[in-house]
Amino acid sequence: MKIVVASGKGGTGKTTVSANLAYALARRGGVTLVDCDVEEPNLHLFFPGESEEKGVPVPVPAIDPERCTLCGECGHFCRYGALTVLKDRVLFFAELCHSCGGCLLVCPSGAVTEVGREVGVVNTSHPLPGLTLVSGVMHEGEVLAPKVVAAAKEAAGEEGRIVYDASPGVACPVIETLEGSDFCILVTESTPFGLHDLDLAVRAAAALGVPAGVVINRSDGEDETALTFCSEHDLPVLMTIPFDRGVAAVQNRGGLIARDLPGWEERFAELWVEVARRCEVRA
Ligand code: SF4
Ligand code: SF4
Repeated sequence: MKIVVASGKGGTGKTTVSANLAYALARRGGVTLVDCDVEEPNLHLFFPGESEEKGVPVPVPAIDPERCTLCGECGHFCRYGALTVLKDRVLFFAELCHSCGGCLLVCPSGAVTEVGREVGVVNTSHPLPGLTLVSGVMHEGEVLAPKVVAAAKEAAGEEGRIVYDASPGVACPVIETLEGSDFCILVTESTPFGLHDLDLAVRAAAALGVPAGVVINRSDGEDETALTFCSEHDLPVLMTIPFDRGVAAVQNRGGLIARDLPGWEERFAELWVEVARRCEVRA
């Protein structure tokens, strides 16, 4: 079963929920945790350990000057401005290339071939018994986050229990993360801003046909607005994490409440059981 932990924006506690859930599952037969927040992966901070690194290459054009007639077709075609045809050569700006392969198709002289260029890496580690951590890391200045997300998902495989920690927001990397998943846990706070972002995330999940439920984080006990939103959108509230001193203290020092506070490991395990039940009902 593959589930995504997402949120409409950063700082809502999405990574905290992923890490605690993974900890509880690692203690119950195993889990693969996938950091799909490739621009700012940070799950390795909760679970440090030796990792194995694998590059993520994407195809980019290589132009054979012997064959190139400088006709300009590739430069016209490339909507990302990665190719500029000058009087005597073609300039290629690798960071702008989206690897669409179009220049290869439009070149009338067969002057374009493809070569691999690394845009990121995928790190795999086993920091705890029962826990495999796969982290996608995009190289600085690159634009192809979805390719790194896809590579991280591929490295995690399809077997067993898989938790994907998505990027904040609802941009392309989040859509790539949601694709093919069985369920989406949306983490929110009970504030008007939080709900606006949650609304966007709910729509993204619905558009991809991924069922969703909500975890309310940093609850002060006055969650009526969030509860009303959830009931209006037919979203189950799967868990509420209170804003209390004990929880805040553990989180502020980068700890895991599932490991450090009594009762929370069981609560996160129950969260998984509830998600699994909903997936089964749907299947
Ligand atoms: S592969 Fe696509 S994006 Fe890259 S240079 Fe060619 S046309 Fe432009
Ligand atoms: S389309 Fe082919 S031949 Fe024309 S400028 Fe580009 S690489 Fe050269």
